[in-house]
Formats: sequence, structure tokens, C-alpha cells
Amino acid sequence: MLQLKQYIKVANLDEAYELNQKKNSVIVGGMHWLKMGKTAYGTAIDLSGLGLDQIVETDETFEIGCMVSLRQLETHEGLNTYTAGAVREAVKDIVGVQFRNTATVGGSIWGRYGFSDVLTVFMAMDAYVVCHKAGEIPICAYAQMKADRDVLVKIIVKKTPICMSYQAMRHAKTDFPMLTCAASYMNNCWTVAVGARPSRAKAVVDASGLGLKVTEEEAKQLALDTVGVQEGAVKQLKIKLDKENGCVDIRMSCDVKELGYIPVVTGAFLISRANVNDLTK
Ligand SMILES: Cc1cc2nc3c(=O)[nH]c(=O)nc-3n(C[C@H](O)[C@H](O)[C@H](O)COP(=O)(O)OP(=O)(O)OC[C@H]3O[C@@H](n4cnc5c(N)ncnc54)[C@H](O)[C@@H]3O)c2cc1C
Repeated sequence: MLQLKQYIKVANLDEAYELNQKKNSVIVGGMHWLKMGKTAYGTAIDLSGLGLDQIVETDETFEIGCMVSLRQLETHEGLNTYTAGAVREAVKDIVGVQFRNTATVGGSIWGRYGFSDVLTVFMAMDAYVVCHKAGEIPICAYAQMKADRDVLVKIIVKKTPICMSYQAMRHAKTDFPMLTCAASYMNNCWTVAVGARPSRAKAVVDASGLGLKVTEEEAKQLALDTVGVQEGAVKQLKIKLDKENGCVDIRMSCDVKELGYIPVVTGAFLISRANVNDLTK
């Protein structure tokens, strides 16, 4: 069972940072992941008094405080309009509404969990992690960094015009994902983030000039380019793309290439066919 000797609700980020430098201190978010462990911590650091539980939308950005819940992500109109529902799609199957009401963005991104839907979806955007000491770090770089004792303060999403789609595969609804994939088109190139490989997500940027109306063959080539990040993915899957309705059918036994190919192609199809976002807006 998790043990906490003392609990401090901090008054500012400097205090949180200082307290967190001790090895037996821990910042608490929603505590869903923490409570699964058996560690005895000296000090639990609570950031809930710092007003970091808001999504602030401006003309240029979304600023998402570390204490924002996954449910707030799911229901935020501006963020979901901007991402054509990709954020909602990414979090909607994480356990249940009660869980998502308290699981935080900070805990989800800081953890850089291999299975993370949350990390994957933000990696396909023009997004940055803001840490108290280290400052602003592109989320794809943050995803590859080792965990340290800095405080994750917020996520900034720049409103770069984007078309995007999110796909995940689960054995059963609300189970951990077997594969996560976010495909986006921004700044005239495609970005494909693939997670649950089973390790943490990686993003591949295709700068070869594939247009928005990507063809099946072009999407296939892009998908094959992502195979390099797919090493170690679950191999015993048979996946069939239903081109008519854009859904994915998972069966037993096929190879890693197909596994990499399908979510990317699906994402690309869904984006270009449904014309989800007008990039000129
Ligand atoms: C049963 C279960 C099923 C899940 N299924 C999924 C799933 O399908 N898909 C998915 O994407 N995720 C899933 N998750 C992960 C979940 O969505 C959250 O990412 C996870 O619970 C962490 O969020 P939290 O707020 O509970 O963080 P906590 O458990 O409170 O913290 C997690 C870690 O982050 C650190 N931390 C928290 N906030 C900060 C901060 N601001 N700065 C620095 N460090 C910080 C903590 O010290 C701790 O080490 C699952 C979790 C559980 C327990």
C-alpha cells in the first residue's frame, strides 16, 4: 500500500520545486497511478491550490494546467473543435468518467507511460511542456527525456492550423490500449505519433510534401516509414482496414508492418475524406 508521511498543499511553484528535490517527496496529481504502488513517501506535494486546473484558450494557444482532469480535456469545446475531436477520442476510453474526473494531465504526461493515449495525441500537435525550472520543451523531446524532479506546470498547444485524427486499438473498451496513433497534417507535412508499441510514443514527421488529399499509396508509404518505431509492437494481430467505413477490424496473427500501416492509413483516410478541419480558417 502507498504510504505518505506528511501532506503539504503548496502556496507557489517555488515551494513545490524545493520540496520535490528530496528523493522521498512526491507530487500528487489524481493519485490513480501512484496508489497502485507500495512506496513510502516522506512528503506528498499537492498543487491543487495554484489555479492550474484550467484550460485557458487565447487566439494563439490553449494553456492546459497540470491539474486539469482528463474529463476537462474530453469536454472542452475549443480544444475538440481545434483537433476535430481527436482529444476526446484519445481519452474517452480511459477507464470511466469518474476516473477521468480526477486523473490529471500533469500525471499523465509526466509519467510518459508506454501505453499513454494522452501523450500520443499531444505529440501530433504543435505542443510544449512547461516545467518550472527547465521552461518550455517540445512535447516530442519531453517524451524521450528521463523523469526528473522538476514540476510539470502546464501544456501549451499552439493553434497551428491542423487536421488530425486519433485511433487506438484495445482488446476491450476501457482496457489499456495495444496501439495508439495520432495522425496530423500541419505546416504542410504529416506527423504520425505511435504509442503503446509497447514502449512510450514516438513521432515520425514526413516532410516529403504529401498533400492533404493523400492517396492510399502515399499513406501506405508514410505508414511503412513508421515501421521503424514499431519494433517490439504486438505481433500476433490480424488487422483489416475497412475502406468503406474507415473502421479497424482486429483479428489474430499478422506482422508488424500491417500493424504500423493500418492506424496511419486509417487516420489519413479519416482526415482527408471527412475533411475534418478547414486549414484556411
Ligand atoms: C487502472 C488504470 C488504467 C489506466 N488506463 C489508461 C489508458 O487506457 N490510457 C491512458 O492513456 N492512461 C491510462 N491510465 C493512466 C491515467 O490516465 C493517468 O495517466 C495516471 O493515472 C496518472 O494520472 P494521475 O493524475 O492519477 O497522476 P498521479 O498518479 O497522481 O501521478 C503520477 C506520477 O506523475 C507525477 N506527477 C503528477 N503531477 C505532476 C506534476 N505536475 N509535475 C511533476 N510530476 C507530476 C507523480 O509524482 C507521479 O509520479 C490508467 C491508469 C490506471 C490506474
